[in-house]
Amino acid sequence: MNAPAERALLQPLAASGRRSFADYPTQALMRVAERPACVFTHGQRSWLCDSEGRRYLDWVQGWAVNTLGHAPAEVAAALSAQAARLLQAGPGFYNDRAIELAARLTEASGLGRCFVTTSGAEANEGAIKLARKYGQVQRGGAFEIITFADAFHGRTLATMSASGKAGFERLFEPKVTGFPKARLNDLASVQALIHARTVAVMLEPIQGEAGVIEAQPSFLQALRELCDAQGLLLILDEVQTGVGRTGRLWAHQWSGIQPDIMTLGKGLGGGVPIGAVLARESVCCFEPGDQGGTYTGHALMCAAALAVLDVVQAPGFLARVQTRSEQMRHGLQAFSSRLGGGPVRGRGLLLALDLPGDDTATRIAQAARERAVAGDAARPGLLLNPVRPASLRLVPALNLSEDDLAVGLQVLDETVR
Ligand code: PMP
Repeated sequence: MNAPAERALLQPLAASGRRSFADYPTQALMRVAERPACVFTHGQRSWLCDSEGRRYLDWVQGWAVNTLGHAPAEVAAALSAQAARLLQAGPGFYNDRAIELAARLTEASGLGRCFVTTSGAEANEGAIKLARKYGQVQRGGAFEIITFADAFHGRTLATMSASGKAGFERLFEPKVTGFPKARLNDLASVQALIHARTVAVMLEPIQGEAGVIEAQPSFLQALRELCDAQGLLLILDEVQTGVGRTGRLWAHQWSGIQPDIMTLGKGLGGGVPIGAVLARESVCCFEPGDQGGTYTGHALMCAAALAVLDVVQAPGFLARVQTRSEQMRHGLQAFSSRLGGGPVRGRGLLLALDLPGDDTATRIAQAARERAVAGDAARPGLLLNPVRPASLRLVPALNLSEDDLAVGLQVLDETVR
């Protein structure tokens, strides 16, 4: 980052007249997460600033949503042009942005039809509904969808039920039924769950929330064959892995398979709330009235997604993600080895590593954040996601610069020292 831009970023935004954490009426928000005592107000690409003038290199990026980092010019321009033209026409009408986005996504995925949602969970709900409808129409009422231990598919009741996240089983009982759990990378555990009521198998190509655990390409290929042999739908949840996160446009390209249904979210909007369900033409059995939602196909959000795709699909962009991934993997591996940690896993810029000790990742994430000094550009903090108490997950902006990568690795080192 150049010096004038750096200084500009350190100016606190005083528009609200509030500066210190205590000035903000944080108790007005429902308490659904433990949050650190700082209030983020503005950012630029890989950098985020709080109300007290502290600067942070951000390797969380809104939990892997800010594909191009904070406040990317391309997305800001698309949003402002679209906001002056059309926000939303309503799901009962066509709008030009939604049509264009659906055309772009179907062409890029080879899946013939697209339904645009407002979140990843809503996309997965749509995929589950489509599979259940397919089961009704094509498979004599089959409705079960085999999902996986430790999977994460969202926080609606059905997607929580489809998830295998530890701790979810006790919440908000009773759950939605029909989601038997297999084990990732264990084909026999899937086969054992298949019977007449089964309609689909659903999984993440890389389990993100579980700590970046990859479905091996050979497992995905075997699942594809199994689904074909049994007439089951293969649903890939690419909410976290899609839109370039792994260095290919879709993570399933690494294994050369094609899903019947794919869901997107997070990175698709580059920070604005949007998701999508894509499906093979022959699977699309929704009829008018089956599926909808006031904000589906939202023109403003579709304009942002189109701007993100323009950048991600530009020649050379994904190659640069792969190069940065190798550099980051190399730096993190050296860091991990120095601490006696494990191998770096994941693909592209969805990486993770295990560290020795029960809560090392939690403590490093806290210390890296708290080292930021207000008004001092030379003392940035680093935002990290301890996806497990002993594992760090790294999901930086896909346009992370080589210089910023070096800064982050140095801050990591200084933090543990
Ligand atoms: N699926 C996966 C794989 C995810 O990682 C997430 C979010 N962490 C979701 C679905 C849910 O997406 P959202 O939070 O946008 O509802």
